[in-house]
Amino acid sequence: MQMSQYNIAFIGLGNMGGPMALNLIKAGCQVTVFDLMPAAMTQLADQGATPAQSVEQACIGADVVISMLPAGKHVQSLYLGDTESGQSGLIDHLPPGALVIDSSTIDSATAVIVAKALTAKGIGFVDAPVSGGTAGATAGTLTFIVGGSEEDYQKALPVLQLMGKNVFHAGQSGAGQIAKICNNMLLSVLMLGTSEALQLAIDNGLDVKVMSDIMLQSSGRNWAIEQYNPCPNVMPNVPSSNDYQGGFMVDLMRKDLGLALDTALKSHSITPMGAIAQNLYNMHSMQGNGQRDFSSIFELFSQQKTK
Ligand code: NAD
Repeated sequence: MQMSQYNIAFIGLGNMGGPMALNLIKAGCQVTVFDLMPAAMTQLADQGATPAQSVEQACIGADVVISMLPAGKHVQSLYLGDTESGQSGLIDHLPPGALVIDSSTIDSATAVIVAKALTAKGIGFVDAPVSGGTAGATAGTLTFIVGGSEEDYQKALPVLQLMGKNVFHAGQSGAGQIAKICNNMLLSVLMLGTSEALQLAIDNGLDVKVMSDIMLQSSGRNWAIEQYNPCPNVMPNVPSSNDYQGGFMVDLMRKDLGLALDTALKSHSITPMGAIAQNLYNMHSMQGNGQRDFSSIFELFSQQKTK
């Protein structure tokens, strides 16, 4: 990794933002961090980041601001402010020429609103949601899916390459978010299908590790089988082998499925598999699994057998 001179403000240090910020520090960037949870900042401060008291303070002197927040409402209020509380947004604090990279997964309409407002003030903006999960964030191998102008994309590219392996320019503002939710709708479906098929094998006396090896070399091969097996104790270092802790929360997958189906409604697209996945993930969340990793959907099938 090349040493870099960027001065970066990083907002949102959760499961994804924390390791992403750490890779920027390792690459030699000056990184100032802010999160509503002080513990998340302390952890990064121990690794060389400068903790800030507020988002405004984090952005003083920054050439690039990166946000990794839960949803569109957080991103909009961070950059454009909140009329209800009267809180101002970073739009009033960032200088023209600064670049904003929002890597949260949010609705494309909000990404476009924020992009228009910031670019009108000479501040660059790209939506750059990611794929690759917490393992990709830690290893610096994320895939970034970017929406924005060619100029802003080119400015963002070297920064994104410090945190990821693949960077795609999907199109204008909002296009990164559309591509991301299409991918995640597919991810939800393949996680469900993989879970269902593995449990069918177990129910019929097969060894789940052998079944997973067979799928790995057969036409059912997919990302869950390769990197994120949902059945406990098949793979080390995945959430299923750690009581489904960490990783990508069920409620974040529900958010993405909501975004996908809202988008489908607007474009008159037919998405029955996405609708079934949304129903099953809603049910799983209602059963108390909202904060667990999304591969815990495996229990929807396995626990039917133990009840
Ligand atoms: P998370 O809940 O672990 O982290 C979000 C962080 O944002 C928390 O630390 C929270 O305190 C902080 N935060 C919220 N509002 C804030 C504000 N106004 N100012 C400062 N900090 C604030 O979530 P995550 O898993 O890191 O996901 C972040 C985003 O990345 C989401 O949009 C998610 O859909 C997306 N994503 C997650 C994964 C994954 O595997 N976890 C993969 C791809 C994309």
